[in-house]
Amino acid sequence: MRVLKFGGSSLADADRFLRAADIIANNAKQEEVAVVLSAPGKTTNKLVAIIESAMRHGEAELQVEQLETAFHTLFNDIKAVLPNIEGNEFDKQVRQSMSKLREFVHGITLLSMCPDNVNARIISKGERVSIQLMKAVMEAKGLKADLIDPVKYLSAQGEYLEAMVDVEASTNNFRQHPLADDHVHIMPGFTAGNKKGELVCLGRNGSDYSAAVLAACLRADCCEIWTDVDGVYNCDPRLVKDARLLKSLSYQEAMELSYFGASVMHPKTIAPIAQFQIPCLIKNSFNPQGAGTLIGQDTGEDELEIKGITTLSNLTMVNVSGPGMKGMVGMASRVFGTMSSHGVSIVLITQSSSEYSISFCIEADNKAQAQLALSDEFELELKDGLLEPVEFMDDLAIISLVGDGMRTSCGIASQFFTSLAEVHVNIIAIAQGSSERAISAVIPEGKISEAIKTCHENFFNSKHYLDVFVVGVGGVGGELVDQIHRQQEKLATKGTILRVCGLANSKGLLLDSEGLPLDNWRDRMDSVTEEFSLARLIALVQRNHIINPVLVDCTSSDEIAKQYADFLAAGFHVVTPNKKANTASMAYYQQLREVARHSRRKLMYETTVGAGLPVIENLQNLIAAGDELEQFNGILSGSLSFIFGKLDEGLTLSQATLLAKEKGFTEPDPRDDLSGMDVARKLLILARESGMKLELSDVKVEQALPPGFDDSGSVAEFIERLPQADEYFTQLFNEASAQGKVLRYVGEIADGQCRVRIAMVDENDPMYKVKEGENALAFYSRYYQPIPLVLRGYGAGTEVTAAGVFSDVMRTLGWKLGV
Ligand code: ADP
Ligand code: ASP
Ligand code: MG
Repeated sequence: MRVLKFGGSSLADADRFLRAADIIANNAKQEEVAVVLSAPGKTTNKLVAIIESAMRHGEAELQVEQLETAFHTLFNDIKAVLPNIEGNEFDKQVRQSMSKLREFVHGITLLSMCPDNVNARIISKGERVSIQLMKAVMEAKGLKADLIDPVKYLSAQGEYLEAMVDVEASTNNFRQHPLADDHVHIMPGFTAGNKKGELVCLGRNGSDYSAAVLAACLRADCCEIWTDVDGVYNCDPRLVKDARLLKSLSYQEAMELSYFGASVMHPKTIAPIAQFQIPCLIKNSFNPQGAGTLIGQDTGEDELEIKGITTLSNLTMVNVSGPGMKGMVGMASRVFGTMSSHGVSIVLITQSSSEYSISFCIEADNKAQAQLALSDEFELELKDGLLEPVEFMDDLAIISLVGDGMRTSCGIASQFFTSLAEVHVNIIAIAQGSSERAISAVIPEGKISEAIKTCHENFFNSKHYLDVFVVGVGGVGGELVDQIHRQQEKLATKGTILRVCGLANSKGLLLDSEGLPLDNWRDRMDSVTEEFSLARLIALVQRNHIINPVLVDCTSSDEIAKQYADFLAAGFHVVTPNKKANTASMAYYQQLREVARHSRRKLMYETTVGAGLPVIENLQNLIAAGDELEQFNGILSGSLSFIFGKLDEGLTLSQATLLAKEKGFTEPDPRDDLSGMDVARKLLILARESGMKLELSDVKVEQALPPGFDDSGSVAEFIERLPQADEYFTQLFNEASAQGKVLRYVGEIADGQCRVRIAMVDENDPMYKVKEGENALAFYSRYYQPIPLVLRGYGAGTEVTAAGVFSDVMRTLGWKLGV
């Protein structure tokens, strides 16, 4: 015997209903089947709304009519496909059922309330419709079908709306009134009968439980839950796009997952099937060929320690505390006793070890009830100050990790909490079941999406998402976007989804939280209409719960650099070749690092010195290992490396500068290079990285122009005037030559001082051979001397710089990439 259960989603319209019927018919050919059906689609919600409407507004006729029409439409649509279906019995049932419903509505309207026994009879009407219709469909397909009345067969106890089935008593009922052979047995889900023979409901979504108890009573070989997804996923597939389908789950895992929010099956479902070791398959009625998920013996095929991550929302946390709690025997039992006697179910409990307080979560709907119950129960203690006023925290959720494998492995809790911290989720309370099969954290409800995404990324090594916002899409920024475009596919095959979600320049802004198409991004940027605003980037990230946003600042703007702290605080990583932030005041420099540490975000600026050369990283590694920088000198400007190198070949300064400009080696305005400020900024960055607390004004800068040279006017005017500087440099060059030296524009750190100057270096100096736009950096440290650590290579150029920025972007993922 197999028990097949079809949820509302599998019965929502004629097409789905007939698919379900096909699945039943195919199974019935092979072995005996019993079928449990939910109400079609959202019928139960509509019935609940009818009760609400009758109570509040004194009428619900329109809704009743709509429901009646929906049932007839369903039948007629089925008849269009299955013309020989017999409709009389169905029509009669619907008519009777709806006329009874109207009577109930009338009664509720008069009373302005709905007793639970009536409520149960109303909300279970959809299931009755489903079974009548399925019986007619089966018969039209030539199968014999009969109906199981759950009020007669399933003996239940408890409240009218949340009853529990006594499996033993119910099994006896089936033994006493055996089901006929060769029939498809069809039972409405969601209901049972109490001792008085009245209809009771099993709780919302209770049809899964009906199927489980029926399978237990009939000692079925298998219980199949047919729904609208391929099985149980490791996360709610609505929240996580790349949620993974699980092959198998142990009963205990399934119990924890459903309890903590995996709504694909009702938590009560597991106990009856686990008791009789009945395997349970979760399958998709839209994809019957799929293997589904098997609940029973865990086959280990998934090879996962953590099987799933679930969330429960709409919770309130209650905190009962006060000096009277300590050592007072029976406090906990009174707290929980009063909750239970007032029908408030407790979702999760935590207790501080001081016994000073007990905190627990309840569904938000039960808050008023809990408030009343506690103030009644503890009236005296509250009056005497033995208890503090009970605290209620609203808008909370629980996120839980579930998996049998957790019992035997270390570090899961720490990774769980680190993951939550990464996305700024404040943990309000923690609970771990004694089975060690589930660990839960209470968090603010608004953060569910971020929490589940980051845990999914970190625990399932699934795809990592990096969502990049590039500000400044000229040279380096534009090249970066092109490089990302070229690499996206390859990265995706390795599990990193790198998306450009924002592009901005002074003209405007393009945004798309799902990632902008990059084919023709330049054209789209040209016709952009949306105004540039950094606040909009932050709003987009927050609204779409993006967990790894990266701001890439490829401008040289002070204004944007000033906002890095805000971006870091808002959860962005910041990657930048812009030197302005790192050379702003020391206070801002330190603030940025503080915010980054606090918000666990990365501030990456490898390309601010030496473009693509790994300068900052190497220096940081040296310092981290306890080394100390004693002296530094280097050629830190690609353009000045080129210009001074050309002097060696006999060119004048103005000729060399013009050539450099033509080749694109200089800034658009060559004064930015010749002023020496660019080198000064780089030097300051290195000095600060080595622990020196200096300001930009502390750097002594000798410009690469003769002292007092008039550098005013437009670029063209300046270039025209530049030959006037040649004489000065020719003299200097000759002087150097006479000593066997060449001129180099260097940055130096020595004795706690930073200097930028034109130096004469001989052939033993590492800078002697550095020209053609190359950079060279010589670090003399405690460990590296007398021979310094030298880094040399192209220190400028759009491509290498963009590649360096790209690498920083990737490194924001940190350990997730194995870096
Ligand atoms: P039915 O109408 O068949 O009873 P439900 O809506 O009650 O269907 O349950 C199926 C839904 O459960 C899925 O559509 C899915 O959105 C949701 N769900 C939540 N968590 C999970 C999970 N971990 N795995 C699969 N589905 C889940
Ligand atoms: N129809 C009921 C509900 O929607 C029971 C179920 O479908 O499981 O709650
Ligand atoms: Mg369901």
